[in-house]
Amino acid sequence: MRIVLLGKPGSGKGTQASMLSQETGLPHLSSGAILRGEISEKTPFGMKIEEYVLRGEIGPQELITDLVLSYIERKGFTSGFILDGFPRTVYQAENLDGRYRPDRCVHIDVPDEVIVDRISNRLTCGRCGEIYHTVSRPPSGRGACDSCGGPLTRRPDDNAEAIRRRLETFREDVQPVLDIYRRAGRLITVDGSRAPAEIYRALREATTGLSRQHRVTREPR
Ligand code: AMP
Repeated sequence: MRIVLLGKPGSGKGTQASMLSQETGLPHLSSGAILRGEISEKTPFGMKIEEYVLRGEIGPQELITDLVLSYIERKGFTSGFILDGFPRTVYQAENLDGRYRPDRCVHIDVPDEVIVDRISNRLTCGRCGEIYHTVSRPPSGRGACDSCGGPLTRRPDDNAEAIRRRLETFREDVQPVLDIYRRAGRLITVDGSRAPAEIYRALREATTGLSRQHRVTREPR
């Protein structure tokens, strides 16, 4: 089962993908996390894309497409994954369809004002990527991740200017992807303005057929 989760930054894709991954065993692949990994390891690719990621822009998408698709292949996840943050452009969607056509395309739909509140209160674990909200989902330990004990920080691109640009990028680049999936009858939309558990119920329904039998090797943390 190949699933793609689409939505604005802060729509809850990461949280939902991680919950679905825990229940099904399907690996959760976040293109943003893959790119941030390249940046923190200071690879030549990471250095090339760092400024785009900091500004909340798409960057050199041929390179990013190659990186994500070859990551899927290298990790042996070609028949089952939950993709979060990819595809973000029509080019990426076409290339993904050509290699690993998704079985379910789910749009987590959230209004802009909810997004701004969520992102400006978001804390992310620097080690495992778990996501917290200072008000609605605070970590129990001070400054440390409940899952792995890693340090919790604000992402450098979670600032007002970058959020505005990322929402703009969504309208310009991701909206056409949603339109293509919708016209082809492949898009499932869930209301993402509710509490995470309620969104998750809708997501599970949207991906019915998912069960333990689709279990694949989990990505090592
Ligand atoms: P995210 O963690 O999904 O919010 O992504 C953070 C940033 O990484 C984005 O603002 C982009 O700069 C970059 N990024 C993530 N995924 C993609 C993608 N599929 N294509 C291009 N840039 C991406």
